[in-house]
Amino acid sequence: APGLHIVATPIGNLGDITLRAIETLAKADLIAAEDTRVAAKLLRHLGLETPVVPYHDHNAQTMRPHLIERLQGGATIALVSDAGTPLVSDPGLKLVQAALDAGIPVTAAPGPCAAIAALTLAGLPTDRFCFCGFLPPKSAARQTALADLAAIPATLLFYEGPSRLAAMLGDAAQVLGKREAAVARELTKLHEEVVRGDLADLAARYAMLEPPRGELVVLIGPPTAQPAASAQDVDALLTAALQTHR
Ligand code: SAM
Repeated sequence: APGLHIVATPIGNLGDITLRAIETLAKADLIAAEDTRVAAKLLRHLGLETPVVPYHDHNAQTMRPHLIERLQGGATIALVSDAGTPLVSDPGLKLVQAALDAGIPVTAAPGPCAAIAALTLAGLPTDRFCFCGFLPPKSAARQTALADLAAIPATLLFYEGPSRLAAMLGDAAQVLGKREAAVARELTKLHEEVVRGDLADLAARYAMLEPPRGELVVLIGPPTAQPAASAQDVDALLTAALQTHR
């Protein structure tokens, strides 16, 4: 169907491409891709020859009006990023906004997303979670950003590069205090690994190790609730205390 299609692609395992993603990429007049070489590799794997144009942070401003014009002319355009779901720490938001403003139909072929895959494996609460993307690379700004998130009663999800993992976990342990946490690495790939534990322990562990290889998601559980003692609890405590002094 004409319009803008947001198409998720694999985060490592090519088998994760969905049937609808393949169909959408096959039928599109044009694929707008974060990196045309990465997209070309996927298309080759799928045996598709749909034309690809670049759409990334550096050319988006000039490319966007061109894409909107094509869409207004009735074209079907698929947006893909290098891996996973476009717009999730990836380009695409302004293109979607421009398409919506122009009254162009926007639809999604949903699929892989590293944050969601990590959430399902971490063993941390899933009823409420907050995707926080990449933290600032410098420690002072990172600590400020973490402090802004400290009171959120939800599992926090971060994308992080391996070289910054230890420093990030150290800042998180310092700012957020005692929490359960997990590091999910190389999801859907050969060396998939999820390390779970106390945030401070994970920080200490990665501070000792060489930076791990590959891509990773850091998950930090919600603040541990300190439930206010109920009247009944107080009664029981007092009774117990009095009994020991009888
Ligand atoms: N749009 C993508 C998505 O839906 O997951 C995320 C793009 S963002 C630029 C790339 C980051 O996602 C990586 O630095 C890493 O934190 C995370 N990531 C991507 N693939 C991953 C994988 N296979 N395992 C763990 N984390 C991954």
